[in-house]
Amino acid sequence: MAEKKTLIEVKNLKKYFNVGSGAILKAVDNINFAIKEGETLGLVGESGCGKSTTGRTIIRLYEATGGDVIFDGKNVHKLNKAEQKEFTKQAQMIFQDPYASLNPRMTVGDIVGEGIDIHSLYTGKQRTERIYEVLNIVGLNKEHANRFPHEFSGGQRQRIGIARSLAIEPKFIVCDEPISALDVSIQAQVVNLLIKLQREYGLTYLFIAHDLSMVKHISDRVGVMYLGTMVEMASSEELYKNPLHPYTQALLSAIPIADPDVEKSRKRILLEGDVPSPINPPPGCRFKARCRYAKDICSQEMPEFREVAPNHFVACHIV
Ligand code: SF4
Repeated sequence: MAEKKTLIEVKNLKKYFNVGSGAILKAVDNINFAIKEGETLGLVGESGCGKSTTGRTIIRLYEATGGDVIFDGKNVHKLNKAEQKEFTKQAQMIFQDPYASLNPRMTVGDIVGEGIDIHSLYTGKQRTERIYEVLNIVGLNKEHANRFPHEFSGGQRQRIGIARSLAIEPKFIVCDEPISALDVSIQAQVVNLLIKLQREYGLTYLFIAHDLSMVKHISDRVGVMYLGTMVEMASSEELYKNPLHPYTQALLSAIPIADPDVEKSRKRILLEGDVPSPINPPPGCRFKARCRYAKDICSQEMPEFREVAPNHFVACHIV
């Protein structure tokens, strides 16, 4: 089988925020990864770990402080105006809170049609047909086009958000915690819809979440972030079977197991200590304050993110 083409390469990406009085919040600090066409990379970690900032910096909602994002051969942070417009068509985002991300004064038809208008894709009857078509693809129908967002449930609103992204036929979608605000019963429906759309349209996803079980279901590979750094990355299967970083091990130990016998013997690794502040972080491994294996070197040197087995990357001095 032919090797899939790399669609996105993230190289030494940094996003710092100046929070006043000389303090720098290092939200994303020197991370590297690539995503192939048609692949889903899951990105997990506790809130504040930098996963959403990573997604936003990749699609240039934030300017990078350093490093490069190469999309389809072009550096996203060095595009000219025409290239930037094309990039916004190719790279879309689905947001965590579907209600806050939809303009309450616009009809669903106009929300879904907004991108079509910006990129002058269709007008008149063709525009209307395209809106109906996309609503149908995401499991809504054309009668919904004249209604307003408040008339829909959370799951339906997320479908509207997906339709809005899909309407302009993007290649890549950053799914920024798209299921976190939804009822558990609805989460699987939205994830299954995203999987179906990926199969049908060859979409590439960066799927950001803190729910590790759902991430496993949708992702080909998973990256684990901690305090602005990537600490582990592997295929979903490998990561869940053989987590190597102490932080990943702790996160996975918190997931309930469906088999009651296995669940009875599940040992939860409780993380001790607080999440340190990403403002002016101290040298060394950022996880050291909560790590039960920490040694002297962990306070002195930042562990390198390196390949310890084929396609399994870890940043830890003891692995
Ligand atoms: Fe723990 Fe040290 Fe590994 Fe960091 S580098 S995860 S502190 S053992």
